[in-house]
Amino acid sequence: MIQQDEELRCTQNHGQPIQIVLLDRDLFTEQRLLCNVCMQNSEGRSNWIGYNKLMEKITMNKTQRRKQLQEIIKTPLSLVEQFQILLNNLKLSVYQQFDQLTTQSSDWKNALLRVVEDQNFSFFRELDTIIYNGEGYLFDKEEIINQIIQTNTQYCNSINGGLSALRKVELYSQCVLRLNEIDNSQHIKLSDQVIPQEMDCFAIAFNQYGQYMISGVNSEIKVWDFNQGNLNERCTLIGHTDTISCLQFSKQSNSFISAGYDNSIRCWRLSSELCAQSYILSQISPMDQDQDQVGPYTYDQGQEWQSSQPFVEHTDGINCFILNQAENQLFSGGKDKSIKIWQYDNFENALTFCYSLDRHKDTIFSLSLNKYEDTLVSCGKDQQIIIWKKSNNLIWQFGYIVTQSIKEEGCRLFFISDTSFIWVTGSKYSENCISTFELSEQNIYQENLEKKVNLTVNNDIFDSSFFQSVNVFKRIY
Ligand SMILES: [Zn+2]
Repeated sequence: MIQQDEELRCTQNHGQPIQIVLLDRDLFTEQRLLCNVCMQNSEGRSNWIGYNKLMEKITMNKTQRRKQLQEIIKTPLSLVEQFQILLNNLKLSVYQQFDQLTTQSSDWKNALLRVVEDQNFSFFRELDTIIYNGEGYLFDKEEIINQIIQTNTQYCNSINGGLSALRKVELYSQCVLRLNEIDNSQHIKLSDQVIPQEMDCFAIAFNQYGQYMISGVNSEIKVWDFNQGNLNERCTLIGHTDTISCLQFSKQSNSFISAGYDNSIRCWRLSSELCAQSYILSQISPMDQDQDQVGPYTYDQGQEWQSSQPFVEHTDGINCFILNQAENQLFSGGKDKSIKIWQYDNFENALTFCYSLDRHKDTIFSLSLNKYEDTLVSCGKDQQIIIWKKSNNLIWQFGYIVTQSIKEEGCRLFFISDTSFIWVTGSKYSENCISTFELSEQNIYQENLEKKVNLTVNNDIFDSSFFQSVNVFKRIY
């Protein structure tokens, strides 16, 4: 809050409005304020600012601060708002169900009251009763009791059903889920650390437990220690002779694969002694690790990352590669329009070329495997999305070309479920959208136009210049 003008007085208490403010760290707050009289009595100081100018700056800062803070709370705020909507829906739904239960119990009451009220009076029946059952007889007790028991059982069952339904209101579990999501989203903190890179960086990767980050710097790979969101450069790995385009860590050990525009793929791992240690490390859950004892610092000293030979089968730059879950098969695609299939041996730190899949007519930009790993999908500059199927003898074969509404090159695609993948436009002047393709009853992937997501149009830059990020669990991409 900005203090009111009249509260600001110079230390000499001249009772005059403040004219200038000294920007001197050694002075106390009030000593920095000078009125007309103070100014006449003071000697030249270099670091000062006019009071009005300062107020202008403070006001501007206040506006800026507010703007930026608003931006920061935007996401959490909207999450809470969505949660509120869910809560309200839950409330309505529970209200409705309670209303139903209340109505049912009223009906129940009425059903019991009918036992008393619902006697069709008839003179001749009353007379018959007196003649046949004697004067003291009023009604068949057993029949009435049975009728009451029947009524009670009927309403107990139906109300019990309603109560059980209340316990598993679907909205309730949705609320719990959403709450967990909001809680988890708080764990992502923005680190202020910015490390400017002078060279292009087209690829970054983290190892499984997030202790290392590797990044491409032109033809070199930088290894970073990643600790509590902070990066420390550790070493630079040389081997590739042209820009690095892809990097991926193994989930099983501290080894990774790199590929670049020099047409080659390389496998990297820590030297043998280190492998043993990192193996031990990988057996300990990240929670149990004592950072001081088994953290990256102890086993990095004097240790080196070793490169395999370059594996060259592509005849032009490589744009993308993916590893299967077992990490024994690698698929790579690139400018030579070809998908290469390799056998990856983590232990030997080596690749063995198997065969090529050739059907694309231009550069391949992206590859994705479904969960069952019987379908591979690829896209590229030729505006084609191609489905490849694994045959019974485990050989990958051309399946079909997916029909798409947008005739444009695709820069990214990714399986987001067992039966659907998303595809992102890649051109500079493009539709800027994400399309969803789903497996139809005919077992063919078809575009679902209702699920098309339009992105903010930016025709200044190729869409492919952006990193891809997919959170399958939260369906964010
Ligand atoms: Zn003064």
